[in-house]
Amino acid sequence: MISKRASKFTSFIVMDVMAKAEELERHGENVIHMEVGEPDFPTPPVIMKAARDALSKNKTLYTHALGLLELRQAICDFYFQEYGVSITPDQVLVSTGTSPALLFAMLAILDPDDEVILSNPRYPCYQNFILAAGGKTREVRTYPEDGFQYRPKDIKKKLSSRTKAIMINSPSNPTGIVMTEEQLQNVAQFDKQYIISDEIYHGLVYKDRAHSILEFTDKAFVINGFSKLYAMTGWRLGYCIFPKTFSKVMQRIHQNFMISANGFIQWAGIAALTKAQKDVARMVRIYDERRRYMLSRLQDMGFVIHVEPTGAFYVFADARRFCKNSYKEAFRITEEVKVGVTPGIDFGSGGEGFLRFSYANSLENIKEGLNRLEGYLKKHR
Ligand code: PMP
Repeated sequence: MISKRASKFTSFIVMDVMAKAEELERHGENVIHMEVGEPDFPTPPVIMKAARDALSKNKTLYTHALGLLELRQAICDFYFQEYGVSITPDQVLVSTGTSPALLFAMLAILDPDDEVILSNPRYPCYQNFILAAGGKTREVRTYPEDGFQYRPKDIKKKLSSRTKAIMINSPSNPTGIVMTEEQLQNVAQFDKQYIISDEIYHGLVYKDRAHSILEFTDKAFVINGFSKLYAMTGWRLGYCIFPKTFSKVMQRIHQNFMISANGFIQWAGIAALTKAQKDVARMVRIYDERRRYMLSRLQDMGFVIHVEPTGAFYVFADARRFCKNSYKEAFRITEEVKVGVTPGIDFGSGGEGFLRFSYANSLENIKEGLNRLEGYLKKHR
């Protein structure tokens, strides 16, 4: 029998859209993928080389449970250079992706029925990490006109003696919106709780810069990784930065559940942090060009963009004018004009009526996909 807990895990609707798109492709259709949030660039050559070098030197063993000291030090240096914050290697856990790092952070802070505040809409996996660790989600509704940022008074209403953490994600999936210093400060003021900050899209920022939550509070768990910025989704490498008091427990958790992250891939992670700046700058320039193109085309078609998305590689477009049921609409667009899009409902009820478009695809494909979408809208409106 499937456990009650496991039967509550929600699925990722974008994967259902992708499965539909792939089924169409098997039937010979040409589908433009704007549903997936995965870089279309190959991993930069300096990172590939570092992995090959590590393999040729037989770096194929387990590492320290928290991760290679050299990589943890490189992460500390990176956070110091980028944000001016001082952390030490005993505050860093390297794992096989941001996802397990988040699970282990939840395991470290939650007792049964403890609560974590999440915004609605948000990245759809968050509630399942909380559930897996025995906790409960408390949702705070956020609104398009605020760029889907928390209103502090709404957080206050949801706080209870069981609230252990407030989760943030900037730049955000699905909205692409980057939190301002003031918005980060607004959340950091809740210092009885931990702030869990998903910073995986840091670096993919096209105006100003993103700030780390660690610039505002030490009572934070930062999760970050290599998947997005360095086009390394399949390598599975991510990390968590935590308050010093959690060092031993994070080490114990990781020893038990993972032993360590992959050794030779951690060496590649060092190269990513220290040698891939030029490659990153090139990818960022290209993403920005696509972002500006997509924004202007979507607005011309009648989608509403309430706050300009200046990070990640998503546009979360308000389609309420012509779409009530984003789930049905996303499948209809995929089936009729062969353009994969993600329904806003995937991110919670607060995303209903929105569609998420990813620009992690070539400009040529984006142009073709948006032409098809325009044709679809002309036909149905
Ligand atoms: N957080 C967010 C907001 C994401 O979009 C993703 C990937 N889709 C992850 C975490 C997980 O990334 P990783 O590949 O590092 O597990």
